[in-house]
Amino acid sequence: MIIEIMADNLSAFLCACMLLGLLIGSFLNVVVYRLPKMMQRDWREQARDILELPAEGQPDTFNLVLPNSSCPHCAHEIKPWENIPVISYLFLRGKCSSCKAPISMRYPLVELSCGLLSAFIAWHFGFTWQAGGMLVLTWGLLAMSLIDVDHQLLPDSLVLPLLWLGLIANSFGLFTNLESALWGAIAGYLSLWSVYWLFKLVTGKEGMGYGDFKLLAMLGAWGGWQVLPLTILLSSLVGAVLGLIMLRLRNAKTSTPIPFGPYLAIAGWIALLWGEQITSSYLQIAGF
Ligand SMILES: [Zn+2]
Repeated sequence: MIIEIMADNLSAFLCACMLLGLLIGSFLNVVVYRLPKMMQRDWREQARDILELPAEGQPDTFNLVLPNSSCPHCAHEIKPWENIPVISYLFLRGKCSSCKAPISMRYPLVELSCGLLSAFIAWHFGFTWQAGGMLVLTWGLLAMSLIDVDHQLLPDSLVLPLLWLGLIANSFGLFTNLESALWGAIAGYLSLWSVYWLFKLVTGKEGMGYGDFKLLAMLGAWGGWQVLPLTILLSSLVGAVLGLIMLRLRNAKTSTPIPFGPYLAIAGWIALLWGEQITSSYLQIAGF
């Protein structure tokens, strides 16, 4: 019944994806905040174990579900009605209901962008399996990019499952055939891996992290090797432009690492959606 309405009525499908996107965006805020903390706790525990130090007491439960979200200033537990995407933020005027500490604008912005991106994908692909696949990929890329901006970290626990999911989706030919997807994953990893080692041999510095190789492998698994040249080109362009702007703003603190993951994510997303059009119009302009 619901499936029939969605299939027949594009605007119903758009609204459903927008709503779903807002809710997922709210969950992504939790993932972006908690997943790095969970990883750090895990590393501390492992390090103490290796160093044969005693464990630090009984650790409290801390995962993506528990404990319930609370205000970081006054520990006021956030009620369900205070947790409605975007609307609660507007209703609370961006302040904690208990201690009036300001709530970051980022939370409603992430929710809103996730909602709009999801609606856009619904519009671009219509009621198809491709829309479903692209929604999952977009949500994953959004979470990864934000974590990379905050912590210069691309969690394996997000990148690797999505890499496998891309290969599985393309075993049904969702975006490309399985052979292209497989070689996309391999070439994606190896291309940045070679750049990394070349850069390291020449300059003695590390220009990017292993997370970036895995992320490009993941994008190759979704779009096939065909999306890789455009992804690398676009990410370098966007990275160079934004990097220059940020260097200006930060008074040229060249040592501050600039994460490459978000640029790769944005470029790969664009290449997946419009790669063929961009490449063919470029070739036309270039006179081929
Ligand atoms: Zn508070």
